[in-house]
Formats: sequence, C-alpha cells, structure tokens
Amino acid sequence: MADHLLSALQQSLSQREADGLLRKRRLLESAQGPHSKVDGRDVLSFCSNDYLGLANHADLQSALQEGVKSAGMGSGASHLLTGHHRYHHALEEALAKFVDLPAALLFSTGYMANLAAISGLMDRNDALFADKLNHASLNDGALLSRATLHRYPHGDWEVLERLLASSAAPRKMVITDSVFSMDGDIAPLKDLVEVCKRHDAWLLIDDAHGFGVLGQQGQGCLNHFNLKSPHIIYMATLGKAAGVSGAFIAGERVVIDYLIQNARTYIYTTAMPPALAAASLQSVKLIGASHDKRAHLHELIAHLQFRLRLKRWQLMDSATPIQPLVIGSNDEAVLVSEHLLEDGILVPAIRPPTVPKGSARLRISLSAAHTVVDVERLAQALEHAEERLTA
Ligand SMILES: *Cc1c(COP(=O)(O)O)cnc(C)c1O
Repeated sequence: MADHLLSALQQSLSQREADGLLRKRRLLESAQGPHSKVDGRDVLSFCSNDYLGLANHADLQSALQEGVKSAGMGSGASHLLTGHHRYHHALEEALAKFVDLPAALLFSTGYMANLAAISGLMDRNDALFADKLNHASLNDGALLSRATLHRYPHGDWEVLERLLASSAAPRKMVITDSVFSMDGDIAPLKDLVEVCKRHDAWLLIDDAHGFGVLGQQGQGCLNHFNLKSPHIIYMATLGKAAGVSGAFIAGERVVIDYLIQNARTYIYTTAMPPALAAASLQSVKLIGASHDKRAHLHELIAHLQFRLRLKRWQLMDSATPIQPLVIGSNDEAVLVSEHLLEDGILVPAIRPPTVPKGSARLRISLSAAHTVVDVERLAQALEHAEERLTA
C-alpha cells in the first residue's frame, strides 16, 4: 500500500531534478567563515549571513561555555513554565535597550518570531499588507493568522496606501523585510511608517539582515533611518550578523505583554538553552563595538561594485552585504556556480521559487571576515566564468 505513497513522492522529486530545481545540502566540515571546508574541499565562501564574522568569535564561545557551566545545557521547559532563565531575561533587556524600544521578547528562531508577531496579533477578521518579496516566514505567519493577505508590488508604498484606504478591516498590519534577503535592497521604511500612521496600521519590520549591519552601532534599520513610532513592531534575528541563534520581537511594552499571552510559538515551545542567550548577550556587546568591522564591510561592498565589470551579468542595486548577481536562467546560474566552485569559490545559485522566474542569480554575500584579496579572487573567478560561457 505504502508503495503508492512513496512513488508519488519519488516522482515529484524526479520532476524537480529534471527542472534543475532540486535543492541539495552541502556538508560543512569546518567552522563558518570565508575560508571553510565544504564537501571535502577548501573553499572561499561567499554564502553565509555571518556579516560581521562573529559566528566563530572566541568571546562568543567563552560566553557559551560560561553559560553552560552556570545554567547547564537545556532549558527544560517553556518560558511560561520554568524555562525563563535570568540569561534570557537579561538578553531581552539588553536587546530592547540596544534597539531603543521599550521591551523585547526572545524566540528560538526568526521563523517562529515572525509567526508570533503576525498570528499573535491578528486574526481572521483582520487585513495584512505584505511586500511581494518578503521572506517566506512572514507569508507563513499570514497564513497561520487566517487574516486576509494583500500583497503589494515590491517597495511600492503608493499602491500600498491605496490598498489600505480601501480596506474596511478592523485591524491592519503592513509587513516588510527591511533588507530583502534575495535582493539586498532596503525597504522605504520612512514612507512606510508615515503610511501606517495615516491609516492606523501596525508596521511589522523584519530586520534579519539589517540588525548588526545597519545603524550607527549596528542597532539595525530603526537607528539607520531614525525611526520611532508606536506603530512599529520590530523583529530581528540572532543567527545572522549576531553570529549565534534565535530572534526577538521588540516594541511597546503592551505589545510584548500581549504576545506573551497570545503567541503560540512563544507559549508552546521549549525555551532556547540559556547559554545561547548568554552568548547572544555577549554578541550584542560585540556588535556595538564593531565599528571597524562595519567600516571594512562597506569597503568590501564598494570594492566589489567598483571592481566587477562583467558584460553578461549585472549586480543588482544594493548597498548592503547582499550583492546578488543576476544570471537569468536556472541552468546558467547553476553552471556559473559550478564554474566558480572549480576555482575554489562557493557562491550559491538561487532559483525560483525562492526568487521570481527568469531571475535566477548568484547570491554573493560579503562578510567583515573577508579581505579585499578574497573579493579580488571572486571578481577574477567571475570574469573567468564569463569567458568560459561566452567562448
Ligand atoms: C533568516 C530569516 C528569517 C528566519 O530567521 P531564522 O532565525 O533563521 O529562523 C526571517 N526573516 C528573514 C528576512 C530572514 O532572512
């Protein structure tokens, strides 16, 4: 009997493979970093979200070790039972202070935080307005809330404003990435805040790729744009620039209090190991003191943009460490990625449905742990790949 169930799965996988869309996992055999060992070979990697190069930082390792020594390994319970450790609490307070909002709530992952922010605050009678290029976790949060979902063209706050004006829903929430994960561009957050004020809507900002990178001390997009409004609900993750794991939502105290009562991905799950919170607490300090790392990162971005002069492919317009190179077809994107790997350079090909059809790309992501020489090697390898494909 089960044969039929299994063969249906196999057929679907084979189709995916035939379409060049089968996702494969690479095996990392070293710590995360620009020079890592992947699938048995040493590579120069441009594919992590470890923007400040903190994922392997000695201070984070020792904070984790100290944390384990004093708090043990597992938290053993959810936050609302006995899992809420003073390390979690201290981290929430430090995060709220760092992003300059009244309160913060810790989650095990950004995916869960987004589910919480949307489904914890909105229900089936409400309306959500989401940028077309938002992260999948935001779309899933919308589904879980059962609110009506309207998607507006990427970054187009004028279309958004018309959609808001014509909605009769009792509660409205606008949802956007700050830095878009596959394009690297930044949402027009100043305009979005104004639109939300005019229409009395929440603005949920997912700053997964801005936290640690944007802002004077890495506080993220709110500091970068000098934004302040009780309409804002802020989400950021601790597994990208912060180099650890987890995420948080920050906003008005009453929003956080409400989520503690209503967010199912907060209530019905085991609290993250307290030692991870201790490591993230150390990371917040490191981020604040990483001015030189951010300056270096911006030098690398400028260097890549200045240096890369290809005829066949173009970098997208991005001021962040996410520097996508648009290739177009799925097959060519995979081929370029393979050519780079032959030169010892790892850059992932991103294909639909993660990005729109016909816009397959290499998602180059830079880290403060890269050197100018690394970026130079990448540029040369891309030129080499272009020669091979045009020959
Ligand atoms: C990575 C990411 C998330 C999910 O965060 P995790 O902590 O990895 O679950 C959410 N939103 C965006 C935009 C992301 O890039």
